[in-house]
Amino acid sequence: MKRIGILIMLLTANLANGCSVQKRKPAAELKTVSRSEWQAAPAKPYKSNRPVRITVHHEGTLIDSSKNVAQFIKNIQTWGMGKDRNWADVPYHFFIGPDGRVYEGRDVFTAGETATEYDPSGHLLISCLGNFEKQEVPQRQLDALVALIAQCNAKYNIPADSLGTHRDHSSKTTCPGKNLYKYFADGSIAKRVKALEK
Ligand SMILES: [Zn+2]
Repeated sequence: MKRIGILIMLLTANLANGCSVQKRKPAAELKTVSRSEWQAAPAKPYKSNRPVRITVHHEGTLIDSSKNVAQFIKNIQTWGMGKDRNWADVPYHFFIGPDGRVYEGRDVFTAGETATEYDPSGHLLISCLGNFEKQEVPQRQLDALVALIAQCNAKYNIPADSLGTHRDHSSKTTCPGKNLYKYFADGSIAKRVKALEK
């Protein structure tokens, strides 16, 4: 009986180890605020599109962490899907708030929207809330941006060297603002993303 007891203990330990390995999530997996949490309206029908590059924007409105970000994104959706634009959904695939929380935007497998002349087909659009011509990027927002880029590169098989910003694709904008763009220009975001991918 004693030997059987030990055998069962060993088997149980192995099973437990096996389970913990299977349940482990990738280190870079970010918790995102879901569409239902920010009370998104359902999207209108859209064409499928596969993202092959990441393009970063700022939203353009001055913001701080006292803002109700969920309501702010809901308002962007209401305006964008209304008569002014008649878009299928919010224009971006992800939003990042000043506190570093990541919000789910439009379906990643449809192209985003733009008010400038570049074609957003194939671009996965990340919008950081704020106006970085006028304000600095909060550290938590910057950290979340790096983590989200690394996660999307891995999840959607996007080559790291395709990373860019709105102004890299359009001469008609300063988006994402000089205080965010500087981290792309000096290569520091690319370097931090690469470090997470190791
Ligand atoms: Zn932009």
